[in-house]
Amino acid sequence: MAEQAERVVPLTDPPGAEEKGPSKSALKKAAKEKEKAEKAAKRQAAEEAQKKEAESSDISKNDYGELPMDGAWPSDFPSKEDVPRVQLPQLLEYFGDASRTETPGGPHVVFRASVENARSQSAKLAFIVFSRGGASIQAVVAASDELSRQMVKFCSSVPAESYVLVHGLVKAPKEPVKSTTIQNLEVHVKKLFVEGKAEAQLPMQVADAERPIPVEGEEEAVDGRPIVTLSTRLNNRVIDLRAKHNQAIFAIKDGVVALFEEFLRSKGFRGIQTPRLLGSASEGGANVFEVKYFATKAFLAQSPQLYKQMLVAARFEKVFEVGPVFRAENSNTARHLTEFTGLDMEMEFEEDYHEVVSLLEELMLFIFNGLKDRYARETDLVRSIYHVEDFKLPSAGAVPRLPFSEGISMLRAAGEELGDFDDLSTPQEKRLGALVLEKYGSDFYVLDEFPLAIRPFYTMPTAATQASYNPASPNAGYSNSYDFFMRGQEIMSGAQRIHNATFLEQRMRAHETPVDPMGEGLRDYVAAFRAGAPKHGGGGIGLERIVMLWLGLPNVRLASLFPRDPGRLTP
Ligand code: ATP
Repeated sequence: MAEQAERVVPLTDPPGAEEKGPSKSALKKAAKEKEKAEKAAKRQAAEEAQKKEAESSDISKNDYGELPMDGAWPSDFPSKEDVPRVQLPQLLEYFGDASRTETPGGPHVVFRASVENARSQSAKLAFIVFSRGGASIQAVVAASDELSRQMVKFCSSVPAESYVLVHGLVKAPKEPVKSTTIQNLEVHVKKLFVEGKAEAQLPMQVADAERPIPVEGEEEAVDGRPIVTLSTRLNNRVIDLRAKHNQAIFAIKDGVVALFEEFLRSKGFRGIQTPRLLGSASEGGANVFEVKYFATKAFLAQSPQLYKQMLVAARFEKVFEVGPVFRAENSNTARHLTEFTGLDMEMEFEEDYHEVVSLLEELMLFIFNGLKDRYARETDLVRSIYHVEDFKLPSAGAVPRLPFSEGISMLRAAGEELGDFDDLSTPQEKRLGALVLEKYGSDFYVLDEFPLAIRPFYTMPTAATQASYNPASPNAGYSNSYDFFMRGQEIMSGAQRIHNATFLEQRMRAHETPVDPMGEGLRDYVAAFRAGAPKHGGGGIGLERIVMLWLGLPNVRLASLFPRDPGRLTP
């Protein structure tokens, strides 16, 4: 093997190598830069010294600043025993008694709140508006022998939406403050610490969210300010949700769930939790999301329908469930989501399925009246932004309940052209809602006895339809099924279900979109009725639809915290 010459890389220049010095101009440049750097260092040192000097002479240096990350309170903050913790929404009530504000020095208060805005009036005076829980109050930060100008400057520059801890004195303002909800009190700040600082440039303002969503194509401007689109609001939902009316919408939504559960429990219903992950697309296959499930696949439940019936067969008698349901419908409308909250119930009945309809009507009236009694303030707040007519309620026991055929007649009399067994289009549903309102003075009504052909396979045909059954047209006639409507839009579908296994199998095979009773997803369902099941019926209500239509919101997305639709899976 030929020996390879070893290549040595010299560590230093070999002796005699020519040394080339820097040019004159380079030397000049370096000297200039050095001088510049020295000047900058001097300036910085002077600034720091000035700052230190200012800090050491800052009489308020322990009364403001940013809280440490662990959120520990400043050591000399007044204790709970010394100063009451009265949050803004209760402040007015607490200090409504004037004597509390007239004690020498004024009463002290400690609270935590958002900064709605902060502004500097002068080097000695700043104003801040604090808000929390729908209440807002003006605060004054004024330089004095006890409060430094540095503190005034700091307070006036706290970015809007920051979360702060405040110790102040509550006093009566010289004149009522018009721009805040608490008008006859103001806070004179003594200490202010920033707990959670907001960035100075947020993608949108809460004030933007407090205006109605723009009508498509009219996003441009009102009062010189562009209107923030629904899409931008939903992209920045955490800021958007801070808007007062958004807080009200979700208080109402929570109220609907509470009222639903309260009513049904009082009638002996039991809450259930059924699976969302299914082994097959059991309810017919359409509109179902498929997901990966280990080495195989699963499907997301589009309703708890089959399970709630199986539980009635399991002798649960009366059941309800509140939970998410999924629809793979590519419907980009103002009333469809791909994930929404289902309010479901199912019950056995004694004689006639109208027992179920009556109970459901009673349930809806309980919810409506409960919203009126318990959420009037929230409802008014939302309606002050989305101006709609008050929801017209029928009196108890007088809910308009029309057979489907009568609905068709009313539409025809109003000029609509449609066949006896046609499904109603959305505009026709709205039209019928308007006709019912005109005739019965109610925004809530029930359409009963739908054509069998347009209902799911588990729907019981009417007695007359069963009596005249003709195998050549097995889906002709009507069924014991109903939809509930608010302001002309569907909020619930329900029916008497088939509880006889043999008949159920027959209907499955004969349905407009036939299903296999022995298929993987339906075998166990059909088996439930082989073991002897009671007559039963129920319904599925869309929670977001109730909220949208009660409040007259222009879009169902406004009633969903983080809506999911064909174009949106975030945030
Ligand atoms: P629609 O005809 O309005 O699409 P549907 O007949 O498909 O509704 P059902 O399957 O009967 O509705 O569901 C029961 C209830 O669930 C409906 O009355 C409605 O309140 C609600 N709902 C159904 N689909 C949606 C959806 N995509 N988004 C929001 N709510 C829905």
